[in-house]
Amino acid sequence: PMDIQLRGIHHGYPIGGTFTPVIEDVSLDIAPGEFVALLGPSGCGKSTLLRLVAGLEPPHAGQVLAGGVPVSGPGPDRIVMFQDPTLYPWRTVRANVALSRDIAGRRDDAAVDAAIAMVGLKGFERAWPHQLSGGMAQRAALARALVNEPRLLILDEPLGKLDSLTRLTMQTELLRLWQKRGFTVIMVTHDVEEALLLATRVVTFSTRPARVISDVSIDLPYHRH
Ligand code: ADP
Ligand code: ADP
Repeated sequence: PMDIQLRGIHHGYPIGGTFTPVIEDVSLDIAPGEFVALLGPSGCGKSTLLRLVAGLEPPHAGQVLAGGVPVSGPGPDRIVMFQDPTLYPWRTVRANVALSRDIAGRRDDAAVDAAIAMVGLKGFERAWPHQLSGGMAQRAALARALVNEPRLLILDEPLGKLDSLTRLTMQTELLRLWQKRGFTVIMVTHDVEEALLLATRVVTFSTRPARVISDVSIDLPYHRH
């Protein structure tokens, strides 16, 4: 698992023609293997913070360190998963999962099959994305995220659009994989119950610009690796 350090992060965008601060002096130390849930009002800057951690854009000020190294771009060690599973429609489930393995420069059929089995999609390798339910598509996206064995999983409301039963299944799945694999997770969610069920730590942000207003550790027996 990977540790993440945010040091005095400031960021902003021109909104309505005026530069607007979106993240204001956020510092966080995330230890390897933590499962951190980020809560906060809509539009406060949570997704922006995830993009900075993912290396999709650089902060205006401050530093993001991953594994002690300054983040200067996206990397296969830090995988992002968004609310909408972006599977390529012209590729089968298996090809979608294998694609990310190919991009990472390792062709390994066994790892692809293992990732598909891990999320319970055995038997659906040759299915097309349009044949999958929302939950199954999200599982396929999870398999694709996990196939390269990332040390950090960055999740932006990954289960937000699923029905409550599928969401519960996926929450259990995610928890089990995290316990087994021991990667670090940073997850934005609007669901307080989800945060309390999964996370070892819940960080809450203010309205825009996002500042940390609370940072609470949670110690539950099933969190133990
Ligand atoms: P959250 O994830 O907490 O809902 P976001 O990080 O998506 O919030 O957005 C924070 C604020 O920054 C919002 O006001 C949003 O409109 C604005 N914003 C986000 N990304 C951009 C961008 N690339 N350009 C301009 N404004 C942006
Ligand atoms: P979320 O899914 O977290 O709610 P969105 O990606 O929908 O966040 O963006 C939230 C707000 O940020 C929206 O109002 C959107 O218009 C604005 N925004 C996001 N990305 C950009 C961008 N590249 N340029 C301008 N505005 C953006």
